[in-house]
Amino acid sequence: MSDSTSRVALVSGGSRGIGRATVRALARDGFDVAFCYRSDDDAARDLEKSGQEFGVRVVGTRADVADGAAVRGWIEATEDRLGPIDAAVTAAGITRDNPLVLMDDEQWRQVIDTNLDGVYHVCRAVVFGMMKRRRGAIVNISSVAGVYGHRTQTNYSASKAGIIGFSRALAKETGRSGIRVNAVAPGFIETDMVAEMNDKARKEALASIPLGRMGTAHEVADMVAYLASDRAAYVTGAVLQIDGGITI
Ligand code: NAD
Repeated sequence: MSDSTSRVALVSGGSRGIGRATVRALARDGFDVAFCYRSDDDAARDLEKSGQEFGVRVVGTRADVADGAAVRGWIEATEDRLGPIDAAVTAAGITRDNPLVLMDDEQWRQVIDTNLDGVYHVCRAVVFGMMKRRRGAIVNISSVAGVYGHRTQTNYSASKAGIIGFSRALAKETGRSGIRVNAVAPGFIETDMVAEMNDKARKEALASIPLGRMGTAHEVADMVAYLASDRAAYVTGAVLQIDGGITI
């Protein structure tokens, strides 16, 4: 169990990209961190080493966020091992792009199940404990696609817009219980997810970003770490965009 001064954070989708950078940022800020991931055990074991680097505990567990029972099992095991959860970050997400006219049911379902049900499963499993302790910060990773819509991403945009509605509703429900709930909406961030873009799409994207480059996972992680911290004590129900100005 944790001692009375330690703080515990949970990150879904921690083995890569924004989730990975978030695990490291929270560990740097003194949290013990439990993260889950879909499949890459080697990346998870490697990330656990950041615990030694920052003098905290970092523990990775393979768990599919689309599976409610798996998420509950992961979170119960985390509380047994590290203690009550102070902060939860939902970074697990996937894309299955296709124009709607070509989209199949599987592409639709996979994205909604992972991106939106995944957020529900994590938040549902942590919220009661946070309410009892009258303390907690939840940060859900949405996307500018959820604010403005991206073509070929009706499934992804719907899931990310759903996360915004979910976060605002939960912020209203739990504010009096000392819980803050915020969403972060990144634009193009240089991760494996974006590496799948073809050259033409990448060029077009870069041309429309006022800052002239894609963001980094570390830049997003720093915003998440801020929202998870007491420095953001008066911030709830916010959707913070981090997008190099692409949406202005
Ligand atoms: P990524 O593909 O590099 O990493 C995704 C992570 O989610 C991995 O750790 C993977 O293991 C995990 N994951 C995926 N499906 C899972 C499942 N079913 N169960 C458990 N874990 C699962 O992606 P990224 O670019 O780092 O994106 C992280 C989040 O940020 C996603 O929610 C994504 O939608 C969002 N986002 C990314 C960008 C971008 O440009 N990269 C922009 C806006 C929003």
